[in-house]
Amino acid sequence: MVENLKRIDLINAIEATRESFNTDSPTVPFIEGDGIGIDIWPASKKVFDAAVEKAYKNDRKIDWVEVLAGQKAFDNTNEWLPDKTLQTFNDFGVGIKGPLTTPVGEGIRSINVAIRQELDLYVCLRPIKYFKGIQTPTKNPQDVDITLFRENTEDVYAGKELENSTGDVEKLNKFLKEEFAWEIRTDSGIGIKPISQTASERLIRASLNYAVENNKKNVAIVHKGNIMKYTEGAFRKWGYDLVKSEFSDVAVSWEECKGEPGDKILVQDVIADAFLQQILIKPQMFDVIATTNLNGDYASDALAAQIGGIGISPGGNINYENGKAVFEATHGTAPKYAGQDKTNPGSLILSGVMMFRYMGWNTAADLIVETMEKTILEGKVTYDLARGRSNAKTLSSSGFADALINNMKPLKKDKR
Ligand code: NAP
Repeated sequence: MVENLKRIDLINAIEATRESFNTDSPTVPFIEGDGIGIDIWPASKKVFDAAVEKAYKNDRKIDWVEVLAGQKAFDNTNEWLPDKTLQTFNDFGVGIKGPLTTPVGEGIRSINVAIRQELDLYVCLRPIKYFKGIQTPTKNPQDVDITLFRENTEDVYAGKELENSTGDVEKLNKFLKEEFAWEIRTDSGIGIKPISQTASERLIRASLNYAVENNKKNVAIVHKGNIMKYTEGAFRKWGYDLVKSEFSDVAVSWEECKGEPGDKILVQDVIADAFLQQILIKPQMFDVIATTNLNGDYASDALAAQIGGIGISPGGNINYENGKAVFEATHGTAPKYAGQDKTNPGSLILSGVMMFRYMGWNTAADLIVETMEKTILEGKVTYDLARGRSNAKTLSSSGFADALINNMKPLKKDKR
């Protein structure tokens, strides 16, 4: 694994990844997903194939290869996450997945977290943007156009915890008392929250690079450094140091420019609790967010709810340094709807859009977004988006996919 690449190497690595997909029929591994995966994956695949066909005629085609994880993997192989699945994602570089059941029980970790950690997919990328016509709990959802970079490997994901009132906690407490004079209530469970300079810098570097590539005006570092100075506070500091050491030609901190960045990207920091208020009051102030794992978990779902898009919020897990990426629906398996051809495939379809953009297949991506905007505006939506809309026609998962395909028009090809 390549550790801690600098800005210029990162840009080269991203270019190299795109170049590797400048081919006619790349192989893309997919996990169908548990629960509603059997409904939303076929619907999504149909849309992906139609978009590629419309965008590139017969010049390009995705060669889909199924890999197993979750319940389907357990039923077939007695393993929740077979090594072969990870190996296949690793071999082909980029893949996509539906939602997976997290098996309940002690000692079994989330399969989603395992995939992210095993492949070192250090960015959880969540773009949050409103589609016209969707009912939302907020008044001005069109003001939300935010891309969130959540650190994906440490903080609470590192998952070091000891159960309360056990010998292990007693041992640790004794050590902490003797070595640090730290007194912790004896019946506490204890968790360790590691936040490293390496992981923080690579996450923030990716967010700044994204802002540069996409002509964004600002990046906010979201943290809780007023309380946790050497983890969250350090995340903030490393972020500002990075702006100076690697991005000073294109970005400037608030402190340095006093809010007058000129034509540079403005980098500021916001304390996590204030951030959750500000995204409700003035979301238009934020373009790109770089944040730690737990803050990012809360913020990405809060933002998704704000645009009414819990069923259509996409996500990607990416290692920009080695190019590996797995894109995924952000909701769960909604087991009560499984097999009913009812739920919204939008989250998985838009995750595919993210995947196409990552591969440099922008024409196919634009085509899907354009048709999704049109179809939702026409009121042709699944049950979740029909709620509260008088002019909506409720479609099935496959019916929504068909409506998208019917609305697709051929676009100009990507330059090759
Ligand atoms: P969930 O599966 O996301 O479902 C909660 C509710 O969200 C559903 O009842 C439904 O609400 C709505 N919903 C979710 N997906 C939808 C879609 N595609 N279209 C329309 N509505 C949708 O959450 P959960 O019930 O807490 O979790 C179930 C399982 O999923 C658990 O095993 C959990 O661990 C797993 N999970 C996996 C992932 C992942 O793979 N990334 C993420 C989260 C949870 P209404 O009934 O109100 O319509």
